[in-house]
Amino acid sequence: MRTMAMSRGVLLAAAGLMAGLAAPAHAAGQSSGQLGSIFKKAQQVHDLEISDEDEEKIGAGVSEKIRARYGVVQDPAIHKYVELVGLTLTAHSSRPNLPWKFIVLDTDGVNALAAPGGYIHITRGALSLMKNEAELADVLGHEIIHVTEKHTIRAIQKGKAIQMGADETMANSPALLGKLVDKATDAVMAGFGRTEELEADDKGLVVAASAGYDPKGLGAFLTTLSDRNKNASSKQGLFASHPEMDERLKTLETEIATRKLTGAVVMDARFHENVKYKPLDQAAIATVPKGAAGLAGDSGQKKSDDKPADDGKKKKGGFGLGKLMTASGPEQKSAEGTSGAAARGVTDSERDAKGGSNPAMVSVKVTAAELTAFKKEGKLS
Ligand SMILES: [Zn+2]
Repeated sequence: MRTMAMSRGVLLAAAGLMAGLAAPAHAAGQSSGQLGSIFKKAQQVHDLEISDEDEEKIGAGVSEKIRARYGVVQDPAIHKYVELVGLTLTAHSSRPNLPWKFIVLDTDGVNALAAPGGYIHITRGALSLMKNEAELADVLGHEIIHVTEKHTIRAIQKGKAIQMGADETMANSPALLGKLVDKATDAVMAGFGRTEELEADDKGLVVAASAGYDPKGLGAFLTTLSDRNKNASSKQGLFASHPEMDERLKTLETEIATRKLTGAVVMDARFHENVKYKPLDQAAIATVPKGAAGLAGDSGQKKSDDKPADDGKKKKGGFGLGKLMTASGPEQKSAEGTSGAAARGVTDSERDAKGGSNPAMVSVKVTAAELTAFKKEGKLS
């Protein structure tokens, strides 16, 4: 077939055309054969095998973008503490052998973001609102499940087709990797759907409680967030309405009871020895102008000075954990979703929060002996 002989460039251009042809359906009749073959090419990503190694590469790219956007707290001590809690948890997860990394982002915005392959990001702002180690563990547990259940990988496979050439694979095409990283970043920043969030809540608590942590920490932290937003002068942000919040908290309680999750470790003192951040009033969080440093849909370098054409469709910055409370509704799907708040041009003080300037990863080494001692001190397993 002619399409097969096309160069990659032509193929990509032809596939790009598809979007324009999609609206007037009758036009397809004129050249259905050709369209069919193009569509087939574009569909390939649904069948694209993404190995653990590929997933790690995609995650590395997503993390790089997140770190560039928010900066990294250049403090080995806080990274070591979060990593100790994180590694305590991942040992109880379904993918204990991923190269897990725990990264503290340098922003007052309250957020937690999981990238494929084991990159877990939590913001300084989120840590500042937590009251003890159990809250941190429960939040990290939630994010860990987004990775172990491959929520982002599934989102990019289910999402709109990625244009790719006939012979492109992740191994031979840096361009394809770049596109997958862009898609994955959009999915992570948009937040997940209700199903994924509830799964992360549920399984995350099981992981945290298996290690010994009090599973009530997640509900406590969500309540803190909710109260904080009640006091905010403008309520159009993440928590504009939260009937879903009450339902979510009830679900958490039910799960703790029915699964008989008995973890009781809270570790209040150790948390405060390690985390000294002071919470900032939501209204005091500095934000950056929309489009200036946005991540979602803003990944192409050539676009950096342009206003992206689909600016109005910028996706909701997800505090994944708060996703169920968004005004845009719990069924919002990340892959296609346009946020209620973002679409109305409302600043999301968490996602749009200003970040630090240093994106360098802070590498910390946690030895097996240190992890053992950490668990022993906390009566964790
Ligand atoms: Zn989440």
